[in-house]
Amino acid sequence: MSEAKIRRDMIRIARLCYERHLLVALDGNLSVRLDDDRILATKAGCHKGMLTDADLVVIDRRGNKLSGEGDPTSEMAMHMACYDARPDVRAVVHAHPPISVAFTIAGVSMARCVLPEVVLTLGVVPTLDYRTTGTADLAALVGEHIHHHDAVLMDRHGAVCVGATLLEAFCRLETMEHTALITKTARDMGRVKELPAAEAVRLRSMGLKRYGGPPAAVAQADLPGADLPEACRSCTGCANPSPTGIGPSETGSRQLMRMARVTAAPLASLSSALADAARFSLSGSTEVTPPTPLEQTVTAAVIQALGDES
Ligand SMILES: [Zn+2]
Repeated sequence: MSEAKIRRDMIRIARLCYERHLLVALDGNLSVRLDDDRILATKAGCHKGMLTDADLVVIDRRGNKLSGEGDPTSEMAMHMACYDARPDVRAVVHAHPPISVAFTIAGVSMARCVLPEVVLTLGVVPTLDYRTTGTADLAALVGEHIHHHDAVLMDRHGAVCVGATLLEAFCRLETMEHTALITKTARDMGRVKELPAAEAVRLRSMGLKRYGGPPAAVAQADLPGADLPEACRSCTGCANPSPTGIGPSETGSRQLMRMARVTAAPLASLSSALADAARFSLSGSTEVTPPTPLEQTVTAAVIQALGDES
């Protein structure tokens, strides 16, 4: 593929990342291997939704700039770690997909087998422990896990997805966020029913053979459990959330859970709906506690104002 075509693809895919809400403002970065020594990357501090050819820099494998205006981003170390870890990786996309990142903040793992097609093509997405952004420490951790996965989530930060092409890396990012949206929606409605462990293992083994994946994972395709984590092989279904729609948080306190719920029966009236909404959002909890005098005053004022409108 010519460098001109790779540049056009990078601009298109960076804009798609922005349009699909996978990053905002100056977030994220993309890179592609042009040859063994040169990498094309988005420069530091550029808006991906308005990316142009002038925002692209060419760097060497040590991260030194060879051409282009502006500086390489401090997050390039993460990209280099991916290229160093896997010769089959030719492109890296780093973004901040909001729902996936929210999973890391809520302490809910995405390394679960929920959607068969995702298990087949992507496997599970691990969440890496927190490390300070832009550090060699974080880059090393990403490189270590990219050995076994095509997509990883960094705690409180974002995603790193790799591929043989930019489009492939982007598709993995999009699939990750779509899976997060579906899983979150299921959690909001009630509970997440995971695939039976035996089916997850069968699908993963089949997927690695049919569609490939990280060489280290493909090598495990015939092993019992394929490359799935121990928890998935012995999974008996997700205990979080509970059938009532709210699961225990990591600390065991339900006060920390702030999940939306869908109620089965319509709320009786506008005023009761507003009272519920005010109570939940003011307390930040789904536990029903008696409203404080301030909350009562605010709720009464809102109901009064809406009553006056209609
Ligand atoms: Zn980032």
